[in-house]
Amino acid sequence: MRDYPDDAACLDHLWRHRYAPDGHTADCPKCAQPRRFHRVKTRPCYVCGSCGHQFYPLAGTIFHKSSTSLHLWFYAIHLMTSTRCGISAKHLERELGVTYKTAWRMFNLIRNKLMADDDEPLSGAVEIDETSVDGKPRKFQGARKRPNAISEGVKLAERRRATVFAAVERGGRVRATVLPSRRGPRLREQAIEWVDPKSIVMTDEWPAYNQLHKHFAKHSRIRHGALEYVDGEIHTNTIEGFFGNLKTGIRATTSSCRTSGYRAISTSSAGATATGMTAARCSTRSSSEQPVQPKLSL
Ligand SMILES: [Zn+2]
Repeated sequence: MRDYPDDAACLDHLWRHRYAPDGHTADCPKCAQPRRFHRVKTRPCYVCGSCGHQFYPLAGTIFHKSSTSLHLWFYAIHLMTSTRCGISAKHLERELGVTYKTAWRMFNLIRNKLMADDDEPLSGAVEIDETSVDGKPRKFQGARKRPNAISEGVKLAERRRATVFAAVERGGRVRATVLPSRRGPRLREQAIEWVDPKSIVMTDEWPAYNQLHKHFAKHSRIRHGALEYVDGEIHTNTIEGFFGNLKTGIRATTSSCRTSGYRAISTSSAGATATGMTAARCSTRSSSEQPVQPKLSL
């Protein structure tokens, strides 16, 4: 959050992300060409130096017309997207010093609106992983000698769980859905559907990901079974952080989870498209923390 010390810095971030990458020049729809814009001091607005056309970077975002300061919004998003274990509306209330009603509203807007979907495939460095919402049988992966030798009991236990499959663009969007099983070709097919073939995908050593190298520019794997969690740029900590948030959210809102209770969710953890919080999250995470702990499980 050091990059966003006040409302002006937050607004500037949105301005750059939505209209003017260099902070000054934007395509003016009236002039029909790039023009230099300057900030209107009294309003959250930028005006074209030639024709007076105005851009309001908050328009169409969840921040529009909110009486809560932009800085607090950014802080809430930061808390909700960078905390490994996820946080609740109650936690937001305490951290932000706002009323519970405000915290609850912010929490829901961030989760439900900011995390809206778009159709562009995920690209760049993309982490892919799956989890069971009532606990991933992570230890089987390392302990099992033959991946196919699974008892009927284990299979039955797995069927009762909801498998959430997700892919996250480093510093960007997340897609997630519920799949009937964590075995078979569905995980691979879903990855192919969501992720640009030119991407570098990163997964753990789960056998369902074995063929991914054929479909993407590169496939890097982290061997959790060998207690390996970070190897330079290769890790799945971002997606695991997302799952941590998801599980906390589920724990906070329901007492029991069944597959049928879930609809496919498609979300964007950092609200990349809607608001450009991407960079905020990305820079915070890479500069201040590089989590190396083992996977969370419930
Ligand atoms: Zn203009």
